[in-house]
Amino acid sequence: MTIFALRLKRYMKIKDLEFKKFIAASKIDEKISDLASHINHDYKDKLPVFLPILNGSFMFASDLLKEVKIPCRVSFVKTSSYSGTASTGQLKTLIGHDESLFNQHILIVEDIVDTGLTLGKIIEELRGLGAKSVEAISLLRKSPAREKKVDVKYVGFDLENEFVLGYGLDYDGLGRNYKDIYKAVDPLEKAAS
Ligand code: 5GP
Repeated sequence: MTIFALRLKRYMKIKDLEFKKFIAASKIDEKISDLASHINHDYKDKLPVFLPILNGSFMFASDLLKEVKIPCRVSFVKTSSYSGTASTGQLKTLIGHDESLFNQHILIVEDIVDTGLTLGKIIEELRGLGAKSVEAISLLRKSPAREKKVDVKYVGFDLENEFVLGYGLDYDGLGRNYKDIYKAVDPLEKAAS
């Protein structure tokens, strides 16, 4: 493969942004097996309800749940707090959870926790509904959530403050379908590489 072809494979343009491959699908698979084995152990005999947050967590939730071997239920919540590459700081719950979550062990499934605003709001709502326990699993966690010590029981990968896409995560609706995770590239960094 020529250097030019390699460069094309490493970089990808979506709208005005350039993205570079960041976490390979094989690494994601390994991480998911590891996370699922912890959950299989911790939630044995608890009949947990997995609550994937749509849209971003659809791929992660699907792959994770295939590795969960204990009896469980799955229910979905849809929210949005992002516009482009920055949090709007406003959260809308578009599709709510149902009342059968009362007295249940809930495991929220997130794609990424950035400021923690989305997760914090959902946890608060679920506790208000009388869930027996509420914990979260997120494939990715950014530094603002780490600094604020947002409570995420299971984390796949810790990131700095980069904008990522792929494996369910989008940039203005595009890029959710990639099996690897990409990060936005600073044009100066690309010119220097
Ligand atoms: P938070 O409320 O923690 O600030 O943001 C959580 C939501 O924002 C995530 O569920 C995800 O939909 C979106 N989000 C946060 N960071 C990123 C990112 O780097 N890329 C993409 N595509 N979405 C993100």
